[in-house]
Amino acid sequence: MQFIDIGFNITDDMFAGRYRGSRKHDSDLEGVIERARENGVTYFLCTGTDCKESAEAIALCRKFNAKWEKPCCFATVGIHPTSSTKYRGEESLSELRKLVEENRDIVKAFGELGLDAERTSWADLETQERAFKEQLMLAYELGLPLFLHNRKTTVRFCEILEETTEMYKLKASETKLKASDMEASDMGSSDIPWGSCVTGSGLLPVSGVVHSFDGARDDARRFIRLGLHIGVNGCGLRELCLHEVIRAGEIPVERLHFETDAPWCSIKKTHPSFDLIKWEIENLPVVKPEKHQSNVEEMVKGRCEPMHVRQVAECLYRLHEQGEPTREKYAQFCERIYRNSLQLFRF
Ligand SMILES: [Zn+2]
Repeated sequence: MQFIDIGFNITDDMFAGRYRGSRKHDSDLEGVIERARENGVTYFLCTGTDCKESAEAIALCRKFNAKWEKPCCFATVGIHPTSSTKYRGEESLSELRKLVEENRDIVKAFGELGLDAERTSWADLETQERAFKEQLMLAYELGLPLFLHNRKTTVRFCEILEETTEMYKLKASETKLKASDMEASDMGSSDIPWGSCVTGSGLLPVSGVVHSFDGARDDARRFIRLGLHIGVNGCGLRELCLHEVIRAGEIPVERLHFETDAPWCSIKKTHPSFDLIKWEIENLPVVKPEKHQSNVEEMVKGRCEPMHVRQVAECLYRLHEQGEPTREKYAQFCERIYRNSLQLFRF
């Protein structure tokens, strides 16, 4: 079976061995990626959260891709809502544009971007909104799928997506920018023209995924109506309302994606999703960060890794399955989700 982890925080300190600012072990990122590859993870979408981290994510992708025949690490470029105090208008937009244009082989999505009403102490909603809107306009222009973050802001979040779509259409018609011109503008080396996107049945100029979905049914319906896709990780699976939404088939399987949000969002024994894991039980030894040897195959206690995407997959499969779960049907389900991510991000 093959998997894609569409949410891997490759630049997180924990993979460099730093925990809350203190160094506990050497970087073990290479082992983390190898382990995931051995477990069927063929592609990783590594999250950028500001200009600096987006550049770092791209550099790490290049470093690891050089080790393998076929590239497997790709990145997003963007400013996360909780980092939006770092957003400097035109200056940031041109920096982001440059990162995308110079790294088209690696950058497969624009993000993270969005709104977060739970962490307004990092950046107030007004600051978040400005960064969100202006980055959206750039993402539409660049034709990149969106990697979206939304926390308790669904109504405003969807309004902004719709408002900016209108603004973009107006701008496009003013500059007489026909879709055919855009598609012909830069073909790159791929046979799929740069700048054209899978929009599904959606209304937006580009497609996108709302990552780390936490399960409110009305939110799911709004996102689906806008043509968006939905990414689920271990954090969302803590919420029983997400279990219900999946069981009820509210998220069409062709809009679903697996992610880990590693090193965060492990599925823990205390979570209601833990009992759903029967096949993807993990047997590697677990050690505390300070005891971890970066060259030894062992897990750091509490740290999620991209190989755990298989646990997310099994949970979602069991919630989705109406009949008796079978390995064969599980493989078909995973294959379907794999194709979704492949199609959306074009790895
Ligand atoms: Zn996020």
